Parts: sequence; C-alpha cells; structure tokens
Amino acid sequence: MWGRPPKAPPPRNRADAETESGRPRKDKVLTGHKTFLIKTYGCQMNVYDSTRMSDVLAPHGYVETGDVEDADLVILNTCHIREKAAEKVYSELGRIRDMAGARASAGRDTLIAVAGCVAQAEGEELMRRAPAVNIVFGPQVTHRLGALVARAQNGERVVETEFPAEDKFKHMPLARRATIAARGPTAFLTVQEGCDKFCTFCVVPYTRGTEVSRPVNEILAEGRRLVDAGVREITLLGQNVNAYHGQDGRGRACSLAGLLGRLGEIGGLERLRYTTSHPRDMDDELIAAHGEMEKLMPYLHLPVQSGADRILARMNRGHDAARYFDLVAALRAARPDIALSSDFIVGFPGETQAEFEATAAMVERIGYAQAYSFKYSPRPGTPAAELGEQVPEEVKAERLAHLQALIHKGQDDFNAACVGRTLAVLLDRKGREAGQLGGRSPYLQAVHVRAPEALTGTIQQVQIRAAGPNSLAGEIASHPDRRADKERPEPRKGDGGGYRREDARP
Ligand code: SF4
Repeated sequence: MWGRPPKAPPPRNRADAETESGRPRKDKVLTGHKTFLIKTYGCQMNVYDSTRMSDVLAPHGYVETGDVEDADLVILNTCHIREKAAEKVYSELGRIRDMAGARASAGRDTLIAVAGCVAQAEGEELMRRAPAVNIVFGPQVTHRLGALVARAQNGERVVETEFPAEDKFKHMPLARRATIAARGPTAFLTVQEGCDKFCTFCVVPYTRGTEVSRPVNEILAEGRRLVDAGVREITLLGQNVNAYHGQDGRGRACSLAGLLGRLGEIGGLERLRYTTSHPRDMDDELIAAHGEMEKLMPYLHLPVQSGADRILARMNRGHDAARYFDLVAALRAARPDIALSSDFIVGFPGETQAEFEATAAMVERIGYAQAYSFKYSPRPGTPAAELGEQVPEEVKAERLAHLQALIHKGQDDFNAACVGRTLAVLLDRKGREAGQLGGRSPYLQAVHVRAPEALTGTIQQVQIRAAGPNSLAGEIASHPDRRADKERPEPRKGDGGGYRREDARP
C-alpha cells in the first residue's frame, strides 16, 4: 500500500514532534514543507516503524503526502519474508526512478530511500544495482533518518545498516497529541525486536538481530501518551513478543504477562493485544493472563508452521506437535472462547504426503478462527535453502490449495457462529458505504455497522446479523448487553486433542 492510512495531518509548525520529555526537539530543521511518502510492506512491525519514521521526519519540516508523484522523499519500508522480496523491491525502484526522472525534468528533486529488512540484507548491493537510490538504512537506525536525509541532500549516497550502540527508541521523537489522535483509536507499540530462534527457513535473526526488549517504563510512557491522545486499543509488537523480558524501574526482569498487567492499569485503555508469539515462549503466567485480564482480548496468533514432528525439528522450531496441542488446551482452559490464528508452511524440504496430512489434521483438530499459509520458498542465506529434497512446485501448490480450503472452512464456521450474538466492537474507521463505520470485534474480526461518525473511537455493543468470509455485519444493539465482552464459558477438561472446532466458536 502507498502511505499509511489513516494519514497524519500536516504539522502545524516545524516542532510537530517532541522528545519523550515532552519538550520540542532542538534538531536543526533541514527544510520547510517538503513532502514524503512511505510505502510499507510486510508485518505490523514495519507499519509501526513507518509511523515512527513519520515522527522523525516531522520536526525536519517534512509533511506526508499520499501522491508519490508529489513526494520529495520516497521511502520503501521493505520486508524480506515474501518470495523474491529483493527482486520486487528492485522492480519497484525502477518505477520510482522513472517517476523521479519526470520530476527532475520539471525541476523537482526526489530522494529515494530503502528501509527495512531488504535494506538490511542487501546493503551496498542495493546502491550498486539501483543507482537512483540515495539512502539505504536498516531497522535499527530509524532515529537517525533526519541526519541521513540531510547527508543525502548534500549529494552523499548513504548506507547505514550497522546495529548502533545507542537505543533507537530513546532517540526517536514522539508524535504530538493531535497527530496520534488523527491516526485513530488503535495503535501499535513495539516492545521487543529481534529473534534468537533461528528457524531454518527464516531471515529475521539475520536482518533484525538478536532479541532485545525495551524497558518497562519506556513502554508505559509511550502507552500513556497514546491513551492520553485517544487511543483505546494497543497491540504490543515483537518478532517474538512473548519472549519479552524488559527491565522494570528497579532493574528486575519483567515478563510479557507482567508488562500487560502494568499497561492494563492505564485508565482509558480498553483493549490489549500482542503479536507475534512463539509456542516455546508461551508460559503459564501468560496463559493465565488470558483468563484473568478483562482488557486482554480473546485472540492469539500462535504460529506452528507444521503439524509433523520431523518437519518441526528440521525447521528448528524447538517443540513438537504434542506440545502445541497442550498449549492450545491450556489456553482454552484459561479462556474457552479464545480465537486462534496461526502460520503454516507447506512443502518444506523433505515434507512427505503423510507429513502434510498431519498439518491438515492439525488445522481441522484445532479449528482456527483464521490462519495464514504459504508454499515454502528458499530464502538465500538460510539453512533450509541448502537442504536437499525440495518439494516439486506442483505438489506444493496442491497441498496449499487443500490446506487453505480447510482454513477457510474453519474461518467461515467461526464467523457464522457469531451471527445472533452481541459483540463489543471498537469502531475505528469509516465504513465502505456512507453512514457506515468499521471496527473490530474482540476476536479481531472486521465488523461493519450503520453508525454516525461521532461514534468513531467508541466501543459499541453490536448485534451481529450476517457473516462473510472476511467480515461481519450488524447493528448497534438498542439494549446493550454488557455481558458480551465478558463471557467466561466454563473451562473444559482435556489435552487439546479433544477440542473440536465447535469448542473454538465464540
Ligand atoms: S521465531 Fe523463527 S520464524 Fe519467527 S522470527 Fe524467529 S526465526 Fe523467524
């Protein structure tokens, strides 16, 4: 997508961003009223990083535009997860180079920057293959973006992909209250970065580095600031968010459950979520939090990738299928209506038909509310890319189609089971039609409802009337049923293997 909806309003003055102390930054302002556009690929962490890039650029006089041809600075914030990610970036850069050439003919300069995981992985190679690029910077130096732009304006071609000694979060300005408010009632907040797990198919440990957790007080300060500006729901982000182990004010390690508890004390904050989690880091305290914290929404994305033990071992996932089923059982005992989501890779090197069928059986047995599935494709530099026994493309395609049919069936069942229920929906945006608003249920389903715009940012009890594959439709309940958001079905006994799809239905 181009830009980052909802679009932030232009700054009223050059000090649109402030330091964490709340004082205006004293950075030298580079220029006035230049425009920038960020194209964001990939996960929520990149969306969050793009938001922070906007905050870094604001005090330098940069104003966001939604029109790439109007942009004095174009940033591609890239993702390395998808197949042929680098090649797609090069082809996008070709289009931007042509657009920059047309602007140059009209006497307008354009700076082109590449950020994110492809920038981190490619580094100097990007400069060599794409001469139109002015800046290449990795995810760890976002706070230096203003200085990098200044160097590029002076004609330097800048590459910054080293991991700096300083904490970038301490050096990034926070947006003004009005800017946060304009972004809507939901927000991401990165609490952890990097990964130590080294799954054999994944580039993240190489592009994002080892696991680092932000201090508790820093996160609480950012959370309070978001809520003070009108945010009602915060999603905590991390490559392995449940490996969070930041220090509290007394220097003690704090778990993700502890952090959620502290954030839950912020008055005015109604909802908390977190993503993405690793099964190995799903501890008892965090599972219990799902049963105890009203503000923690009953939705969890818990990637498993495969249902076959031998493939899980080849992927270096560090757990087997039985452990995953145990976790699901414990989560459903703590919060019986929890909606589960996952990631799956089909056709991992050496995957037999029987092993694929174990994955398909897992999908049916657990009954996911939604899930993401992909054909395996090698990522250069990862151990799995060197493995033999690559599965033929047509076999991968066949397995993916079969798995996705099961996943869609589970999603349809889950959504259909919501019809007739009253769900608490946080209305966070305009709907597709006039007089309509869109929002999210506790289970993260998109919900459309006829409602006046004045209700944006509020949580309404919505009677669900219809369910589609990707969204629900309903109407605001005339007699709000406050129980809807607080249901606590009786815990079920079992090991997770006994759970049918019906058990997952809200
Ligand atoms: S846990 Fe595995 S898949 Fe997830 S970021 Fe780390 S290495 Fe990649």
